Amino acid sequence: FSSTTPITATLFPGDGIGPEIAESVKQVFQAADVPIEWEEHYVGTEIDPRTQSFLTWESLESVRRNRVGLKGPMATPIGKGHRSLNLTLRKELNLYANVRPCYSLPGYKTRYDNVNLVTIRENTEGEYSGLEHQVVRGVVESLKIITRAASLRVAEYAFHYAKANGRERVSAIHKANIMQKTDGLFLKCCREVAEKYPEITYEEVIIDNCCMMLVKNPALFDVLVMPNLYGDIISDLCAGLVGGLGLTPSCNIGEGGIALAEAVHGSAPDIAGKACNMANPTALLLSSVMMLRHLNITDKAERIQNAIINTIAEGKYRTADLGGSSSTTEFTNAICDNL
Ligand code: NAD
Repeated sequence: FSSTTPITATLFPGDGIGPEIAESVKQVFQAADVPIEWEEHYVGTEIDPRTQSFLTWESLESVRRNRVGLKGPMATPIGKGHRSLNLTLRKELNLYANVRPCYSLPGYKTRYDNVNLVTIRENTEGEYSGLEHQVVRGVVESLKIITRAASLRVAEYAFHYAKANGRERVSAIHKANIMQKTDGLFLKCCREVAEKYPEITYEEVIIDNCCMMLVKNPALFDVLVMPNLYGDIISDLCAGLVGGLGLTPSCNIGEGGIALAEAVHGSAPDIAGKACNMANPTALLLSSVMMLRHLNITDKAERIQNAIINTIAEGKYRTADLGGSSSTTEFTNAICDNL
């Protein structure tokens, strides 16, 4: 795409702080003159029988049609007879890889200044296959499903990502010493794919050792690829290394090149809807930057990312989660000024 061709993208503002931070993204895109037209879809108030969730079929069709979108956090309403909204999105759109870049933000001091890694999580199976049952009273069973097809698919994506983004190493994270069949198959698939990318260094790291290495020296890692449960935990651990969930973007990759970017945090009901709007829009803004990069609108992506980083580095306008006292609006205005 040239950066002047308008592109339609789906936007799910989501719940809680979602609409507040989605507003920031719209404001920054407008200030940066980004050629995106948003097609907004709200989470429904009634269960759609076609999706069995509060997410409507029309909203899914919008992502299928546009192939690209941005999603705010969605709180799953408590009730019976419906699927989690995030699970519905993942299943219906076959979002098989969750990509989370994690890097130190200059000027925002954490324990480390040199984090620059990417976690790629298999998003469709493993322990999250939802296959649990009671064998007899007092004994339950949960099935961990690992398939060759899904493992190859996520490994392919990880190596493709590494090559396309000038990364040098892919580490497969596993526990194949104990789970020999399931994690063993995952590793076998990673090895097969690694052979096709001789220019990328491939290594295998056991999950417990990986946790220790990450907290001791995160600079040891570049791209990490792993099954679902490990990815869920490790990606949050990595978010903690650079300052928390308010700063960490992600993008879900689906079959046929669908990309749905989303902040990794939840709807933050404790701070949502406050008159002094307190939410930090950075994670959703950086997710929107990932969406722009996916669309090859790199000039705008670069500009917006630099404006966010500079605003945080200057330290004058920061939201409460980063130790400041600025509102979402003040912080967003400062980013627009920095564009
Ligand atoms: P949460 O991420 O919403 O909040 C955890 C803490 O972090 C809270 O103190 C919150 O105020 C703070 N926080 C989160 N994002 C912030 C931001 N952008 N700026 C400033 N502070 C921020 O997690 P939770 O409380 O466990 O979950 C709340 C709801 O969100 C639940 O209904 C859950 O199901 C949902 N959820 C959705 C997603 C998603 O849509 N991907 C992810 C996680 C949780």
